[in-house]
Amino acid sequence: CGIIGILGKHEVAPQLVEALKRLEYRGYDSAGVATIDASGQLDRRRAVGKLVNLSDRLVHEPLSGHSGIGHTRWATHGAPTEVNAHPHRHGPVAVVHNGIIENFRDLRQELIAAGLTPESDTDTETVALLTAHHMAQGMAPIEAARATLARLHGAFALAFLFDGEDDLMIAARKGSPLAIGHGDDEMFVGSDAVALSPFTDRITYLEEGDHAVLTREGAKIFDAQGQQTNRDITRIDVGA
Ligand code: GLU
Repeated sequence: CGIIGILGKHEVAPQLVEALKRLEYRGYDSAGVATIDASGQLDRRRAVGKLVNLSDRLVHEPLSGHSGIGHTRWATHGAPTEVNAHPHRHGPVAVVHNGIIENFRDLRQELIAAGLTPESDTDTETVALLTAHHMAQGMAPIEAARATLARLHGAFALAFLFDGEDDLMIAARKGSPLAIGHGDDEMFVGSDAVALSPFTDRITYLEEGDHAVLTREGAKIFDAQGQQTNRDITRIDVGA
């Protein structure tokens, strides 16, 4: 129900949790974060219930790293359990998602037939499985995510991270809003500008069908036809 993504220069786990707090008003049943540490290792923590359960978890089992994604979930497919909480991960790919992947049953069957094993009941996990499958077939992360996006029906805001890629995040929007925040050698994505307000007031709203390739240097935005495009940066006043 809420998404945050950060390519930053500080320990990112507390920043992710802080941003998720600003998305609490939307309601949620579970939450989670994934980070990439200095050695390029992708790892995640998830917890059912209030965000405090996730932050308690992070006290006992900390996650380090300057790149990360976070999520508050409002379950649509699969019970509100830890296994169904986001980020969903398969192999080198971690994903957070708002919305519904309408054709996930077909995709899931196809992936099972190809030898992959889902561990959750969610529509979202299919996105991680399919992207990992594309990478196993030799595609690079950006290409693999694009090939996945081309297969998805439904409404989604998505953010992807890749194991070993500390300076790459992919974000996509179709039917669910998603904002990009521009920092100083830092980049952010969030469900809304309020989530990003602790970090930046320079915001680009993705348009329908857009996806963005983010590094700390900036965001390249591509439209629904895959053409690189310019979207305005607006300065917003969201208060404190
Ligand atoms: N459909 C996804 C799920 O049930 C995402 C729900 C959401 O937007 O939080 O896990």
